[in-house]
Amino acid sequence: MTNNTQQARRRFLKGLGVAGAVAAAPMAAPALASSMRSDGVKWDKTVDIAIIGSGFAGLAAGIEAKRQGANNVTIFEKMPVFGGNSAINGGLYAAPATPMQKEKGVQDSVERMVADQMKAGRGIADEGLLRHVAEHAMEGLQLAIDAGAEFHPYLQQLGGHSVPRTYQTSVSCGAGITQPLLKQARKEGVETINRIKFDGFVLDKDGKVEGIKLKRGYYFGEEDSGTEFFVRATRGVIMATGGFAQNVNLRMAQDPTLTAEVGCTNAKGATGEGMFEMFRLGAIPVHMAHIQSGPWASPDEGGFGYVSNYSIFNFPHSIAINRMTGERFMNEIADRKTRADAELNCRDAEGKPLPPIMVTSWEHAKQHPNAKKVLKYGVGWKFDTLEALAKHFDVPLKPLQAQIEQYNQYVKSGVDEQFGKNMGKAKGKYIQAPFSVVRLWPKVHYCQGGVQITKEAKVLDSFTGKPIPNLFAAGEVTGGVHGVSRLGSCSIPECVVMGMTASRSIMQA
Ligand SMILES: Cc1cc2nc3c(=O)[nH]c(=O)nc-3n(C[C@H](O)[C@H](O)[C@H](O)COP(=O)(O)OP(=O)(O)OC[C@H]3O[C@@H](n4cnc5c(N)ncnc54)[C@H](O)[C@@H]3O)c2cc1C
Repeated sequence: MTNNTQQARRRFLKGLGVAGAVAAAPMAAPALASSMRSDGVKWDKTVDIAIIGSGFAGLAAGIEAKRQGANNVTIFEKMPVFGGNSAINGGLYAAPATPMQKEKGVQDSVERMVADQMKAGRGIADEGLLRHVAEHAMEGLQLAIDAGAEFHPYLQQLGGHSVPRTYQTSVSCGAGITQPLLKQARKEGVETINRIKFDGFVLDKDGKVEGIKLKRGYYFGEEDSGTEFFVRATRGVIMATGGFAQNVNLRMAQDPTLTAEVGCTNAKGATGEGMFEMFRLGAIPVHMAHIQSGPWASPDEGGFGYVSNYSIFNFPHSIAINRMTGERFMNEIADRKTRADAELNCRDAEGKPLPPIMVTSWEHAKQHPNAKKVLKYGVGWKFDTLEALAKHFDVPLKPLQAQIEQYNQYVKSGVDEQFGKNMGKAKGKYIQAPFSVVRLWPKVHYCQGGVQITKEAKVLDSFTGKPIPNLFAAGEVTGGVHGVSRLGSCSIPECVVMGMTASRSIMQA
């Protein structure tokens, strides 16, 4: 650390009100600042690496840390269960040039995957980080497979991806990866502690992260619960605390339309305080206002539910219909932002939300494991005739009939003249009775914003432009990687690869 850097960090620490005599600091000390100096701290535990958060990023970091030779590695998790959003996720994992793509004759490359993501990111994604992740995505997938994760024997082509490159766990859920990784981590000697909440950093006199302050025996929702616990991390701290989609105040500060009434797919613990503490330390906030909504969600069930995975699978060979017009209104496999914005425009004559419908031939819909469940739980419908469908959803029949005939021509010709949809996965899949239908309405899903990191997963300091010593971050808590819109199935590879990267950076330092 240079003298200038040290001085800049000391100035910032003074701003926090934690470094001795405080002169009139240009930055007011945040009222709730909880990072502190290590003078006089009695450490309850000492580890090589402290990892906060037990999702994909934290688990991959833990395993890799051990493989790189770290002795004591502990993952701290505030919730009673391990896994965070990762455990409830859809289990969809994108990687380029994979064995399954080769087997199925799909031409793909790192460059192609990065180009697809840059397009969805609308020019503000971080190309270097995306390339780093794409280059190591297969390695991350192999980590999961070696730990025991199992995948469906087919590839999916999600919105915005130019080729099929997405694997999905055979249980169609992220737990199909987090459970094997958790087991593997423990097998390799990673300690895992739950109900322990990260509460702030402990810094040495130069502003280096020396350890963390936690609340042990913490109960989520009871902020006074738990007792203070100090952990010294001799090699570094990896923040893998995930996104903040469940923090309504914070998401509304970025976008006032994202009120508590707007549905959210995330686990309750996605509240963002770990990210806040890094900002307090000087980390650079990036793209905080880019909060993604999932266009495949249903207004008829809570959270991610059964419909999301079902519609992600079926969009390529389905049509999305505006119920006012009976016509399509979007490319069903465009990137998420394009589709979510188009869905939000579907309104009745008074301007009130009128959730559009996704219409699929039952013959194809039933290939997805959730097809029967959406019917069973009343969040999907099956119709023998188009008349019955139109009547149920109050859709004008004639335009709907004409739209289906027109779309079926596109299935035949392989060219969507209306919205330019890639018809590769729709080949031979005509829209015909009996029909399966679900309603669509976007839900808050993913935070593209967070702290800025380097390709080595180092957290950058806004005051010095240099990495904050001993602080690393990986996964959804980081920002700027995906730009305006993250493509589906690109978070898991990012979390796993950057988690591994963080541990490599620490151990190779
Ligand atoms: C329903 C759903 C489906 C999704 N499907 C997919 C998909 O199929 N493919 C894909 O690529 N992406 C998907 N995503 C996105 C992806 O799951 C997330 O971006 C990813 O899981 C984030 O992983 P992470 O390790 O960064 O954080 P998380 O998995 O959220 O883990 C963070 C952990 O940190 C803990 N934590 C937070 N604060 C503290 C604290 N102060 N102290 C201690 N612990 C703390 C949390 O409780 C949590 O367990 C989905 C997201 C959701 C919500």
